[in-house]
Amino acid sequence: MYNALILIIEDEPEIADILRGYLDREGFRTVCAADGNTGIAHHLRLKPDLVLLDVKLPGPDGFDVLAAIRRQGETPVIMVTALGEDLDKLQALRIGADDYVVKPFNPLEVVARTKAVLRRTNAALADKVLRVGSLVVDATAHQAYVTSATGNLALDLTRTEFRLLEHMAHFPRRAFERSELVDACLPEGDALERTVDSHMSNLRRKLASAGAGELLSGVRGVGYRLGTVNG
Ligand code: CA
Repeated sequence: MYNALILIIEDEPEIADILRGYLDREGFRTVCAADGNTGIAHHLRLKPDLVLLDVKLPGPDGFDVLAAIRRQGETPVIMVTALGEDLDKLQALRIGADDYVVKPFNPLEVVARTKAVLRRTNAALADKVLRVGSLVVDATAHQAYVTSATGNLALDLTRTEFRLLEHMAHFPRRAFERSELVDACLPEGDALERTVDSHMSNLRRKLASAGAGELLSGVRGVGYRLGTVNG
């Protein structure tokens, strides 16, 4: 669950900031969308572990977004409704939301619900170990290492480097755009696409010194890929 990516779809910036702040403090990764269409696009592209979804949104509303998310997969969704929208709540649960919270909410309660839904729907994620070739990314232990005939070589990674590696390890051999890596992995204030290049160059150097430099490659005109055709 540590490092799970939470997509916050909320058009009120103050509320989005509060949620983001509390979730960040708990070690979650967060990404925000201020309208329904952006939310649907982020869901498709970033494959978050859970979505916090406001009901009243410009463009497609929360129910339209929930329906679109359900067409794309089983991502857990917590609906955020305004006080007195009881009918909306019932409708949300019927069309596939996992839980709901009512505004004005206590952010700590939202964090607790988020953890509970993640535990319930995705217990397996808690000790997920990802493997790409000789690389092992252990999200629970927050460790990455390269296996070899003589044993495991631990990678000494910064927090951002680990996030990048873990995010990419979910989808071996997929080409990631820089903008996507910025959205999913970089702390705010560090969100320039060229900073991805310097993190990637450090990552490749660390992988190379552990004998796995070939696993991380640039994709011309796109961004980066983790993994080779051989695994
Ligand atoms: Ca709203």
